[in-house]
Amino acid sequence: MTKRVYNFNAGPAALPLPVLEELQENVLDFNGLGMSILEISHRSKDFEAVIQEAETLLKDLLNVPEEYRVLFLQGGASTQFSMVPMNYLSNGQSADYILTGSWSEKAHAEASRIGSAHIAASSKESNYDHIPSLDEIKLSTSPEYVHITSNNTIFGTQWETLPTFSEFPIVADMSSDILSRPFDVRPYGIIYAGAQKNLGPAGVTIVIIRQDILDKAKKDLPSMLRYDILAKNNSLYNTPPVFSIYSVMLVLRWIKSMGGLSTIDNHNREKAALIYDTIDNSGGFYKGHAQKNSRSLMNITFRLPSEDLEKKFASEATQQGLIGLKGHRSVGGMRASTYNAVPKEACQTLADFMREFQRING
Ligand code: PMP
Repeated sequence: MTKRVYNFNAGPAALPLPVLEELQENVLDFNGLGMSILEISHRSKDFEAVIQEAETLLKDLLNVPEEYRVLFLQGGASTQFSMVPMNYLSNGQSADYILTGSWSEKAHAEASRIGSAHIAASSKESNYDHIPSLDEIKLSTSPEYVHITSNNTIFGTQWETLPTFSEFPIVADMSSDILSRPFDVRPYGIIYAGAQKNLGPAGVTIVIIRQDILDKAKKDLPSMLRYDILAKNNSLYNTPPVFSIYSVMLVLRWIKSMGGLSTIDNHNREKAALIYDTIDNSGGFYKGHAQKNSRSLMNITFRLPSEDLEKKFASEATQQGLIGLKGHRSVGGMRASTYNAVPKEACQTLADFMREFQRING
C-alpha cells in the first residue's frame, strides 16, 4: 500500500484505517455470502442487521432517549435545509435561525422560501469569527423551532456550550461535529448531519428526530420529503445507500472500541491544542480566525502574514504529506480539519511543520 498521508480535508475526510480495511474485505465477500456488501439487497436479513446495529450504536454512543427515532436519509445535510421547513413551516408558521456561518445562511435561505424565518442572532458582521453570546440572541415570540449550526466548518467556530431554549425545540445541523463530544440530546427536536466528516463516507445523512416533532410533520408533501413516511418505513421507503450505511456502522463500532465519546472528546481536545498552541505561541505569525471562546475543535482556521506565504505553506505542507490545508475562500488562509479519525500524530506533525515553516519564513 502507498504511504497514507495526513489528511486534513474538510469533508469527505479521513476515515479510521481499521474501518477502511474491513470495508476492503467486505467489498469482496460480505458475511461469507459469496457476494459483496455492494451487491446485497437492502431488504435482506444481513442488511437489516447492519442498519439495526448502526441505529443501536448511535443511540448508545449519544445516549439518545427512547422517544427519538434515527433515520438514514439521502440528499445530504443540504436537503435537510429544505425538508425541515417544508415539514414544519409550510402553513405560515415561523422559526428562528441563529446565523454562525455559510451553512446556517443556506439553511435560513431555504426556510425563508417556505415560511417566515427570523434571524435571532448573527455574527456575519465580523465575518463569522464567533458564536453569538446568549444575551445577543433575540428569539421571536413563538417559533416552531430554533435552528443552530453546532460547528461551522468553513469559519472554524463551534458552540463551546450548546444552548438550550427551554420552551422551543432546537433543530441542529451537526454535520461537522456530531460524535466528536458528548452532549445532552433532550433539548433537540431534530439533529441532522451529513456523514462525510465524522461518521463515514458521503451518501447518507443521519437524522435524529423526537417522536412528538415527527408526529407534527406535514402530510401533504412528496413521500421522499415526509419524515413520517421515512420513519414508518425504517429508512427503507426506497433503496437506501447500503454501502454508506454499512460504513457508518463500522465507524460507530470503531468509536465504541476507542472508549466512546468522552475518550474521543479528550483526544480531540489534545489534538486541537497542539495546533492552537502553535498559533498562540507564534508571536502573531499565525493568526486564528475564530475568537478564542468560539474555537472549533474540528476545523482550525488561521492566516499567515501574506497570501504568498499561505500558498507556499500549502504547497510545502502537501509535499510533506500534510493534505487538505487550504482554507475556504470566504476566510482565506489555512484550515486544518481534525475530525475524529485524524490521529494525534497528524496534528503533532502539522504543529512541528508550522514551527519549522515560521523559523524559515518568519
Ligand atoms: N452543514 C455543514 C455544517 C457542513 O459543513 C456541510 C458540508 N460541508 C453542509 C451542511 C452541507 O452538507 P451536504 O454536502 O451533505 O449537503
